[in-house]
Amino acid sequence: MTETRVRHICSLSGGKDSTALAIMMRDKVQDMEYVFSDTDKELPETYTYLEKLEAYLGKEIVRLHSERTFDHWLEIYGGYLPSSQMRWCTKMLKIRPFEEYIGDDEVHMYIGIRADEDRAGYRPSKTNIHPVYPFIDEGMTLDDIHRVLDESGIGFPDYYSWRSRSGCYFCFYQQKREWLGLLKNHPELFKLAKKYEEDSRRKAGEGRHTWNDGECLEDLEDPDRQADIWARYLQRVESLKKANSTNNSKKLLHILGQDEDEDEDMLPCSFCHI
Ligand code: SF4
Repeated sequence: MTETRVRHICSLSGGKDSTALAIMMRDKVQDMEYVFSDTDKELPETYTYLEKLEAYLGKEIVRLHSERTFDHWLEIYGGYLPSSQMRWCTKMLKIRPFEEYIGDDEVHMYIGIRADEDRAGYRPSKTNIHPVYPFIDEGMTLDDIHRVLDESGIGFPDYYSWRSRSGCYFCFYQQKREWLGLLKNHPELFKLAKKYEEDSRRKAGEGRHTWNDGECLEDLEDPDRQADIWARYLQRVESLKKANSTNNSKKLLHILGQDEDEDEDMLPCSFCHI
């Protein structure tokens, strides 16, 4: 009788938590496979960060790609941009390539959800994938993640200076101030995101043609609107500081990574944003 092959896979998003997990597991699970589902629409900082991690791990991070491009799937979905309610992008460009890569092997999939987070993990559609949550098992919180990243010398991805989450440059989970960060740091990518909206408006009509709910990028880049977004953001920073003077800057950064009005649907998925 042939023995069932059991694989250990750490799925990376290009974010701080999955990176800290990979660092932590490097010496614990020798035959760990590190994979990254690449949409080909990621931020340049993400690719640089993965290369840095790869050097630290001394092992290849396998880049998984969908057989078809984002633009192909956009066409199939009638030109409707993905959204938190219709997240076909994660399914087609991240989860499906991952599940194909695994095939029918028994897999322990390591996921970097922390003990201080309140979000559901990845729910595999295949019974041969068994999620493992080392941070939760070991009670590790945000402070521990900072420590792991600092001690390894890997640190945070560079996009953290203007954006709180990993993912595609046009990800609809971005806050408005993060869109402005994209405009400032990668104007060419902002322009491409804007073009997607324009094309979608032409094709899908008014139904779903903005990345942001109800506000197109053209409106967002208006100087008055930009000033308004920044003013509100700074106001929020100030009130958070006052409300909890015990918050250190790391915790504050964490809190500011979420919109005030973020509801259950807007919580980012564990596949793209860990
Ligand atoms: S990062 Fe955002 S846009 Fe990209 S696949 Fe994930 S949910 Fe979709």
